[in-house]
Amino acid sequence: MDTRLPEKPAEPAVTPMMAQYIEIKAANPDCLLFYRMGDFYEMFFDDAEVASRALGITLTKRGKHQGDDIPMCGVPVHAADQYLQKLIALGHRVAVCEQTEDPAEARKRGGKAVVRRDVIRLVTPGTITEDSLLSPGRNNYLAAVSRRRGRTGDGDIFGLAWIDISTGEFRVGESDAARLAADLARIEPREVLVGEPVFADPALNAFWRGLPMAVTPLSPAFFEGATAETRLADYFAVKTLDGFGSFSRAELSAAAAGLAYVEKTQIGERPPLMPPARETADGVMLIDAATRTNLELTATLSGERRGSLIAAIDRTATGAGARLLARRLAGPSTDPNVIVERLDAIGWMLDDAGLTQAVREDLASAPDLARALSRLTLNRGGPRDLAAIRDGLDAAARIAARLGSGAQPAAIAAAAKSLATAPHGLADALRAALADDLPHLKRDGGFVRDGYRAELDEVRRLRDESRRVIAGLQADYAAETDIRSLKVRHNNVLGYFIEVGANHAERLMAAPLNGRFIHRQTMANAVRFTTTELADLEAKIAGAGERALAIELAVFDELADAVELVSAAIRDAADALAVLDVAAGLAVLAEAEGYCRPVVENSLAFAVAGGRHPVVERALRHESQSFVANDCTLGPEDAGDAGHIWLVTGPNMAGKSTFLRQNALIAILAQIGSYVPARSARIGIVDRLFSRVGAADDLARGRSTFMVEMVETAAILNQAGPRSLVILDEIGRGTATFDGLSIAWAAIEHLHEVNRSRALFATHYHELTALAERLARLRNVTVRVTEWQGEVIFLHEIAPGAADRSYGIQVAKLAGLPAAVVARAREVLDQLEETDRKSPVHAMIDDLPLFSAARSPDPAASPSDPLGEMVDAIQPDEVTPREALEALYRLKTARADRRK
Ligand code: ADP
Repeated sequence: MDTRLPEKPAEPAVTPMMAQYIEIKAANPDCLLFYRMGDFYEMFFDDAEVASRALGITLTKRGKHQGDDIPMCGVPVHAADQYLQKLIALGHRVAVCEQTEDPAEARKRGGKAVVRRDVIRLVTPGTITEDSLLSPGRNNYLAAVSRRRGRTGDGDIFGLAWIDISTGEFRVGESDAARLAADLARIEPREVLVGEPVFADPALNAFWRGLPMAVTPLSPAFFEGATAETRLADYFAVKTLDGFGSFSRAELSAAAAGLAYVEKTQIGERPPLMPPARETADGVMLIDAATRTNLELTATLSGERRGSLIAAIDRTATGAGARLLARRLAGPSTDPNVIVERLDAIGWMLDDAGLTQAVREDLASAPDLARALSRLTLNRGGPRDLAAIRDGLDAAARIAARLGSGAQPAAIAAAAKSLATAPHGLADALRAALADDLPHLKRDGGFVRDGYRAELDEVRRLRDESRRVIAGLQADYAAETDIRSLKVRHNNVLGYFIEVGANHAERLMAAPLNGRFIHRQTMANAVRFTTTELADLEAKIAGAGERALAIELAVFDELADAVELVSAAIRDAADALAVLDVAAGLAVLAEAEGYCRPVVENSLAFAVAGGRHPVVERALRHESQSFVANDCTLGPEDAGDAGHIWLVTGPNMAGKSTFLRQNALIAILAQIGSYVPARSARIGIVDRLFSRVGAADDLARGRSTFMVEMVETAAILNQAGPRSLVILDEIGRGTATFDGLSIAWAAIEHLHEVNRSRALFATHYHELTALAERLARLRNVTVRVTEWQGEVIFLHEIAPGAADRSYGIQVAKLAGLPAAVVARAREVLDQLEETDRKSPVHAMIDDLPLFSAARSPDPAASPSDPLGEMVDAIQPDEVTPREALEALYRLKTARADRRK
């Protein structure tokens, strides 16, 4: 964002208001300033230009500054949320500046005095709480990333803290350079905070800029390690953090930075957060960003939720349930105990479909407790948030009664207990206080029930009585003036007034009536008057209205305080509702889609019988087609220490990708503690899931398809281990045949010998099937097709063996390639196959020595390569252009020397 500010004015040509604006803007240089003027938030100077472009609103001008027009644009206060949403979505940050005194007060200080204004809040992507700005089923995380430099030899450590102020969640963890991207992809924060030096570090700058979320560099003071612990303890009003568990220095620094930023954006308000919970890296399945995208876990490759895994499995009834499911899906567990507990809960729900249905109906009526609670404690809540607490607690009471306390799996029993012990008395108190129809904003009044507070009833009675008297006045005045069309009306500018048609006006303005009727306003067709009587009544009504509102606001604060007092118990209840919602939703899914309960254990097993793809299956059903279920066995049958690799061949469109993905998805579903689309499944915990599926250009970041493919493949070969599951689809497609074949070849050997992971490898290079002869744990399978009258028919069935050929030409024909092209292609293919027969790949295999890359030394490190060493010593990011040139000369000389 361009945040250039006009120079502070030297001459007093600036109006006092502009001077105030410039001062406030100077204190918030990195935000668009929403400057409150009457019913509008106005923006000036560069802000106005940026906002008018972003929002598509008219740019006007207001007055002059140093001789130039001041650009200005504005948004109405009542519609501000919708504009905020747009700006935030575009990655802007907004400082909301309100009037902090009554304009009447300012006038008292003299004609030129400006109304006092202050920024009351910074709105940034990671710190919003309004329902209209949040999506109900998604967490809105703010993440802070701290860095602790590793000592020479070991790498840097990153501390992570992520906070959702709309729900109170607060988690911390550690990461390292290799997995930072994967961790951020899992957390999916809306905004990432990082210290300026870390942001600017040449080794990381491109990484931050490439992140798909807003990244906010902060002064290093936010991450200050020495005071981090005190700052945390202070926030939670505890003496020491011991009660919360132990945290590393990197975690503390990130957590303190996150909290400081929350306080900064909320201008001192402290949203009630849960104490930081530590998430260890080995507790969740690591899924890197590319794998998440490739497997379309939360969005399809084209960015939509429809067609993603989450859309296929989410049957939750509440926003909180949807958020919990999304969180589990983002980080599947690696702890069989946790997983079994979740599976038990689903099983219990499946055993009593009637109860599950009833619980789901109760859940559907439960508002979002966590978010209402957060708004109330941030002083940003309204009467409807109080009602949400009431209704949420009522739903909790109903569900607690339904669940009872019989023999229940641990997760259900814990939830039932939280619900039973929720502060139900508070719901009764809220019921007694709140009216049936509630306004959106507390300042609109009218939300306290009649009979709740005697004082309020009394003021309201006075007000209503005056209104009744006014209603009676119309008839009196009509009779008195003999103008039957006379009306008593009300508007916001004049208040109450008497209106007559223009033709009658003269009568009222002449004696004797003009003694009583005082002229106020002449319109085109009507003239307006008042009387002292009317003015008195009006003053009474206004006075009563003000008193009533003051009483109501006081009641609101009492109720909000009562809510805050038991916020921890409310949050427990909210969590319990979410846990039940997810279990019930997954039970309904399992029942409706015929999923089975997987066995999840600490082993290297991977045995799926009759597995299906959860998304493709649904899509096919819509077209009245059925999905062909397939088995997959990758575990070491004989208790060995490494998994099998299945090499999947078959023509295009046979179903290779589908098969690969479905097995990865089944592993994920099993580890989030869900039933899975299969007849049976036994899954040994997968610690890391890698996939390289399909080919997508990443032109925005200047990488070709092939480069993306190689970067992802490199990540897999460098990181996968025996407990990992690897899905590789069509490696080497993006380059020439022999290049591609060779890379795929070497990758399989590496996976088999070095990574030793359970893996599925799909390829159209049939030549690779020959590798099964040499690699003990490599199995060839193929997706069966058959030919009928020259057409290829896909059976989508996985069977042992290798595809006999690729059927590329048949598939091309199916796609509608012109007949002449198809015929010519057949001729060319015959020729090529003839040549290949003369030097078959099998012969080549026998000539190749066994794979030995793991054992051979890195050629670059060999001392017999001084030129290589010189190149390695150059740090391109750190040299000046001149040093770079000198280095080039040195290299040329060294090379010339060697030639001599
Ligand atoms: P490939 O990777 O071999 O080119 P895909 O996995 O993309 O093939 O599958 C192509 C299409 O075949 C899918 O879009 C789907 O409609 C269908 N298909 C794949 N697997 C199955 C299956 N097991 N049962 C039924 N249809 C399938």
